[in-house]
Amino acid sequence: MTTMVQEKNVTVPKKGKQIYEGKAKKLFETDNPDLVIQEFKDDATAFNAKKRGTIVGKGVINNKISAMLFQLLEKESVPTHFVKLLSDREMLVKRLEIVKVEMTIRNIAAGGLTRTTGIPEGTKLKKPVLEYHYKSDELDDPLINMDHIRELGIATEEEMKQIDKMTLKVNELLKAFFAKAKIDLIDFKLEFGRHHGKILLGDEISPDTCRFWEQGTGRKLDKDRFRRDLGDVEGAYEEMLKRVSEKLS
Ligand code: 5GP
Repeated sequence: MTTMVQEKNVTVPKKGKQIYEGKAKKLFETDNPDLVIQEFKDDATAFNAKKRGTIVGKGVINNKISAMLFQLLEKESVPTHFVKLLSDREMLVKRLEIVKVEMTIRNIAAGGLTRTTGIPEGTKLKKPVLEYHYKSDELDDPLINMDHIRELGIATEEEMKQIDKMTLKVNELLKAFFAKAKIDLIDFKLEFGRHHGKILLGDEISPDTCRFWEQGTGRKLDKDRFRRDLGDVEGAYEEMLKRVSEKLS
């Protein structure tokens, strides 16, 4: 029988060979088949890797912010893949079979929503808008619906109900958390996976995957500074780490 990892004070397993390299992270196997190490890089890409660059120190910041937010969510009974922060750039996580849907949730119109619907950037949405995007680089992560998910065999109706519910809950928790740090949570993307049949929140939650606007000034404190060449990208990431750390200490 395979043993499930349940405790945070699990012995740190030995880092093994690289099993995957994505745009912002690498994954390494460990000598425990249930656990992998997620390593955060400074590489930045946008527009499906048509734009490439480096944000110095981003990997360290995203690792730390993600670790803090996963811990905050776990305390609120949201099951995540997070196990332990290992170093500046590495976290130990539970191995997931990734559900190939990017869950996007929006509170204020920006980016893709503005492009697809014409709702002006900055419009407060009546209620959170949830979108499914098919996780496919070849197809440019297209917007899909539950019929597409069923047809492609991506997940069951039951799993998607659970994922919707978890996404909405994470949105409420994070919106309230960031408000305390004087930040509006505009929108963000989550990914989920299966671990011994249970749905867990995976991937990362960071300025790479969220839009953060400073309350009062509207200053963008996220990857849009890189996407749109707004300057001082590193400063924005550092500011977000400072605000999250302050509110959690
Ligand atoms: P949009 O659809 O407006 O481009 O993105 C909505 C939100 O989800 C933004 O906060 C954006 O950062 C995040 N997001 C959506 N898709 C991706 C993706 O492929 N990579 C990253 N890093 N973030 C994404």
